[in-house]
Amino acid sequence: MPLPVIALDFDGVIADSARESFDVALVTYSQFYPDSDLAAFKDPSHPGRRILFESFLEMMALGNRAEDYALALKLIEQGRSVEDQESYDAIFLEQDPRFLGDFHHRLYENRDRSRNANPEKWCEAVTPFVVFTEILKRRCEDACWSIVTAKDRSSVKLLLASYGLEEIFKDSLIFDKSLGRDKRAHLQELKGVVSVPHQEITFVDDKLNHLETAALIGAQCVLAAWGYNGDREQQGALRQGFKVASLDTIEGILLPSS
Ligand SMILES: [Mg+2]
Repeated sequence: MPLPVIALDFDGVIADSARESFDVALVTYSQFYPDSDLAAFKDPSHPGRRILFESFLEMMALGNRAEDYALALKLIEQGRSVEDQESYDAIFLEQDPRFLGDFHHRLYENRDRSRNANPEKWCEAVTPFVVFTEILKRRCEDACWSIVTAKDRSSVKLLLASYGLEEIFKDSLIFDKSLGRDKRAHLQELKGVVSVPHQEITFVDDKLNHLETAALIGAQCVLAAWGYNGDREQQGALRQGFKVASLDTIEGILLPSS
């Protein structure tokens, strides 16, 4: 019997990257807006950092990639709250695409610099979701495991190696940010490599908006509730017929015979 094909998002599913993303986003934002009040929050001892981080985490549930961090920080600085995905997407479309592209580029320059300067230290800042990575190690032979991510391949591969997962994901089954914001492109590429229809691919992501687009092409969608989402996204996922998995239920959902 062929192995089930399981496509995993990286950040918020395998890796808890929120702290590192927050740090590099703040550095990048301060380069674009040196006079911003947020620039002072780069200091790890700033008393308001924890609250700013929590607001940033809430916004992370609505964004997709590095450029969304710029919008998240801008909205927080302006004291604006965002009701739902639709409102966020409308605000995103109002932004200058050139600025978003420049921010994305600059953030990756900053991330690459910090990662290359001290790869070990950089990896320590992006911890794995250990319960899930232990499942991957234990069940590595029971599925065809793939990664579909908005992160860059170099960072993903470095982190996979530091988590001891590099053997589980074949290079040809890692699809990274170069394929764009919409993960349908990643799943399309995966379908080409594994030669199974989308309906036979299970897709796990912590962003509801990615599941919604993946469902349009027929992928079986699972929301990772341990990632960057909240009650709003989990209820939305259930309403649309997606499964919502916790770290306790994910193994049984992905590999039901276990
Ligand atoms: Mg994610």
